[in-house]
Amino acid sequence: MRNLLDFTSEELALEIKPKFRVKQIFQWIYQKYVDSFYDMTSLPMDFRKYLSENYYFKTLECLRKETSRDGSEKYLFKLKDGELIETVFLPMKKEEKSNNGKILKEAKFTICVSSQVGCKSACSFCLTAKDGFKRNLNPSEIVAQILYIKKEKNIPYEKRVNVVYMGMGEPLDNLKNVAKAVKILSENDTLAISPKRQTISTSGLAKQIKELAKMDLGALLAISLHAVDDELRSELMPINKAYNIGQIMEALRDFPINQRKRLMFEYLLIDGINDKIEHAKKLVKLLNGINAKVNLILFNPHFGSIYKRPKMENAIAFQDYLSSKRIVCTIRESKGLDISAACGQLSKKGKE
Ligand code: SAH
Repeated sequence: MRNLLDFTSEELALEIKPKFRVKQIFQWIYQKYVDSFYDMTSLPMDFRKYLSENYYFKTLECLRKETSRDGSEKYLFKLKDGELIETVFLPMKKEEKSNNGKILKEAKFTICVSSQVGCKSACSFCLTAKDGFKRNLNPSEIVAQILYIKKEKNIPYEKRVNVVYMGMGEPLDNLKNVAKAVKILSENDTLAISPKRQTISTSGLAKQIKELAKMDLGALLAISLHAVDDELRSELMPINKAYNIGQIMEALRDFPINQRKRLMFEYLLIDGINDKIEHAKKLVKLLNGINAKVNLILFNPHFGSIYKRPKMENAIAFQDYLSSKRIVCTIRESKGLDISAACGQLSKKGKE
């Protein structure tokens, strides 16, 4: 039995003929959100039976869900082999309607997906790292996170959704499967989420950044920088010993970016560690000549962590300094502070 969510339409067309059947099957799964082959009523009955004997597409079981006051929701999913992953649904903008009910502004959603069970990066501030690395997710396990949530929330398939690979795991350490998930998600007969709406976030695997550049997928890239000198970065992110800041910046120079988009740099502000104006100054120097956007993240404390959340006034001063040097910079609204939102927290609870 094989999982249909692992297939691009081209791949499935090698097995299922005639080709229009592939389109039908995908539309039933990804656009009409059916639960079983028997609900695919436009297919002949014996063909539905054949499919059900050879393929499946149920991938995830939801064990737990937490809803935050700010509307974000965190899902704890169990995979077929019992491993746990998390996915976060983030409503970014509410729908706005005029008095006569006309939609003025569409609601915007972002879904934050996991790419691995656990993680090898071992960043000192991140909870996912604490349990070490278990395994890579298959393309189907990545795709299923988005499908599950769209289906559960009954979000019409054509409604725009952004995907960020910022859940558990290091996406570039699972590049092959992540790249395939980007492709599957972007197909017209599936969820039609353009690669431009998908952001891959990395702790800075320079070699894989180059490989990703060669693939020219069209997905956006975000770098979790978090520190501007190698000594501090290696302390926070041991992966920096394998690929230092210079190597990452060198890999980024050749990264193809869409004309209107910028490279995103995430900078996690930790109280007293990297949140001073001197750090902001060095960051400006480092980003000189790069079409960059900086996203400041406020450290999200978790049980047992030695770090503290930065003071808001320091975060604002940091942001003001970058803006004064004409670097586009936002402070990421910390969503879900009341619901174990820091990576890895919910999966910890699931095991309690
Ligand atoms: N491995 C990838 C993607 C997963 S982490 C990466 O490193 O980019 C997604 C983002 O959450 C990263 O920027 C990571 O540094 C950040 N993060 C991890 N733990 C956090 C915490 N406790 N508070 C705030 N952000 C955190």
